[in-house]
Amino acid sequence: MSKKRVVIIGAGVSGLTTAILLLKQEKGYHVTIVAKHFPGELSDEYTSPWAGANWRGFASITDKRLQEFEKKTLIHFFELAKTKPAETGIMIVDSFDYWDEHKEDFIEPWFSNFCPGYRHLQKEELPDNVEFGITYKTVTINPTIYLGFLLNTFLALGGNIERKEFSHIQDAILTDTDIVINCTGIHSRTLGGVQDANVYAARGQIVIVELPPTHVTWTFLRYPRGSNEGIFKGPVTYVIPRNNGEVVLGGTYVENDYTTVPDPVIAESIIKRCLTTRPDLLPVGQKELKIKRHSVGLRPVRKDGIRIETEWINSSLGRGKRVLVCHNYGHGGYGYQSSYGAALHLIEVMKKSLNSNKARISKL
Ligand code: FAD
Repeated sequence: MSKKRVVIIGAGVSGLTTAILLLKQEKGYHVTIVAKHFPGELSDEYTSPWAGANWRGFASITDKRLQEFEKKTLIHFFELAKTKPAETGIMIVDSFDYWDEHKEDFIEPWFSNFCPGYRHLQKEELPDNVEFGITYKTVTINPTIYLGFLLNTFLALGGNIERKEFSHIQDAILTDTDIVINCTGIHSRTLGGVQDANVYAARGQIVIVELPPTHVTWTFLRYPRGSNEGIFKGPVTYVIPRNNGEVVLGGTYVENDYTTVPDPVIAESIIKRCLTTRPDLLPVGQKELKIKRHSVGLRPVRKDGIRIETEWINSSLGRGKRVLVCHNYGHGGYGYQSSYGAALHLIEVMKKSLNSNKARISKL
């Protein structure tokens, strides 16, 4: 039987992960990634290189689908951190989640029973003006290294790449195309044939500093008063170390703000907030942090969460040609930490649609 020809639009963490899993787990697919931007490039239109990035369970207690995606991805990342740390840029660290106010009726987060070392922090372990906290093992990801690893893995598996920008999903369909997978992130808002008005940006500004490589072995996120489960009532403060001595200081989460120039006033406030929370960020004897660069990225948020859905469309090439379009976009601030689980699920939904000839909506 001839192979099904798949075009994946997008070479961010979503497109690359989906492409690898298709080639690794399934037989009978010929996969080409077509994108405007690829790993190694920086652009305001390409979110993945600008991420922190780490794994921190944000899914609400009721969002079982996202929990499943994040759980599968964390298990995969732990494995990569143990077997290929330098190649993937993934490392295991201690995570600290801090809340400014006391949590009288704290509901244990959904990940408390599978993140190693999960426990509540003792009072003496809390930073000044922090009233509650938890700790557990997690991973941090160096986006540049990880995206390069994904691209190399895809090519080694026999995948093809092509640089092109599409204005309409129909443009991705050639006479021999059977399936198109849409992983265009924030561009799903404007891409013809998709134009999802539920997609919008959440601006994130970060400061990247350089510290002695083993100085920071932890990551933290401080929830402003009144926040929970990834809903932030004010500026989010976080620190994410990378495997190359770079440490990311964050941050901001501003919805519908498309400004991509770093704001120096915000940068100053980020540094101040991080140092106030964890003064031990600064090595003993060092007077100030060595700033490497400032950056801004636009998180591809979607009102109803990640869209994993399929639809059969009639090709504009005519002759009764029908093509299965699969969507995997709208990963907001959790695109890395949900990438593996979301891609696995997309492939399941895609296969069901191929078998039944009906389009599917994501259900776990
Ligand atoms: P993108 O990376 O934007 O990729 C889209 C791809 O589609 C690109 O290749 C682009 O060229 C291509 N494309 C788009 N339109 C077209 C077109 N018309 N024609 C051809 N090609 C097209 N996530 C985490 O899990 N953990 C974190 O700690 C974390 N921290 C973050 C911190 C910041 C400051 C920011 C900004 C984001 C963070 N994220 C984090 C979120 C994460 O970065 C995103 O969810 C993720 O990168 C989205 O990836 P994507 O592949 O869906 O989209």
